[in-house]
Amino acid sequence: MSSIDKHTAQVREMAYDLGFQYCGISRACFLEEEAPRLEEWLSKSYHGKMSYMEGHFDKRLDPRKLVPGSKSVVSLLLNYYPEKKQLDGFPKISKYAYGKDYHVVIKEKLFQFLDRIRAEIGEVDGRVFVDSAPVMDKAWARKSGLGWLGKNGNLIHPKEGSFFFIAELIIDLELRPDGPIKDYCGTCTRCLDACPTDALQEAYVVDGSRCISYLTIELKEEMIPSEFQDKMQDWAFGCDICQDVCPWNRFSKPHHISDFDLREGLVHLNAKEWLELEEEAFEQLAKHSPLERSKLKGMQRNVRFLKST
Ligand code: SF4
Ligand code: SF4
Repeated sequence: MSSIDKHTAQVREMAYDLGFQYCGISRACFLEEEAPRLEEWLSKSYHGKMSYMEGHFDKRLDPRKLVPGSKSVVSLLLNYYPEKKQLDGFPKISKYAYGKDYHVVIKEKLFQFLDRIRAEIGEVDGRVFVDSAPVMDKAWARKSGLGWLGKNGNLIHPKEGSFFFIAELIIDLELRPDGPIKDYCGTCTRCLDACPTDALQEAYVVDGSRCISYLTIELKEEMIPSEFQDKMQDWAFGCDICQDVCPWNRFSKPHHISDFDLREGLVHLNAKEWLELEEEAFEQLAKHSPLERSKLKGMQRNVRFLKST
């Protein structure tokens, strides 16, 4: 066995050992196919007010510019599909935000991963990423054969659907790359039909500026634009509609990471209680969770918007 194949097998084994469900590898290179797509997406202002998306264009498309000397992108999937979900009738929170902030949970695993690579393979340089720097995580996961990019813009694994966090190691170790798999969306249009805000007017292209995730989390204005009244379907933080309706998610299996479980305090928190919540109680409830990002003010803006519809 060549040293490249041996290292590739070792890296995969470490990924599964650390609890990642899937691991795929790509050669670090320029993302040729994505470049014109990204340019067009930005030119249509589908990123809304997320101006940070406009920066680092070169680094976004070429990991060697982000991590000089890098040779491989190791893409990793971690399941966050919950066993216990919120009940209907309460302001809805996207499943990824039920528990502790995934950045914290996953970063810890990634640092352990790098340490183990160095201990078992030798001096390897690189950086770890989880939804935090200009890395096109879905494009890399697709390229590495971890799934295809569905018409709803999500990465879909053929055995377990799309409720996964995606993370990467970009390292200067040469590994054997995997290849992409086929797109299995076929003639299905369920996600396009279900999106309440018309953020999916075109298959495979998400108009981020119309997406409920953007409106409830990224948009920092005092008000959500009134054209979205009656369209939020109770979503107060993020939106899972286009994933919930995807037939491939019937294969989702519950995760086993207690940090990601739905926090008790969120199970029965109704709109009135959200609006009456005091700062101290919110801090307790949202501590180290993605909800901290919106702050109490943002959550109450969102809940008020739901109530006004
Ligand atoms: S997350 Fe919700 S609003 Fe955004 S594209 Fe999917 S269904 Fe539409
Ligand atoms: S709902 Fe259908 S079209 Fe949309 S991503 Fe899933 S399989 Fe593809």
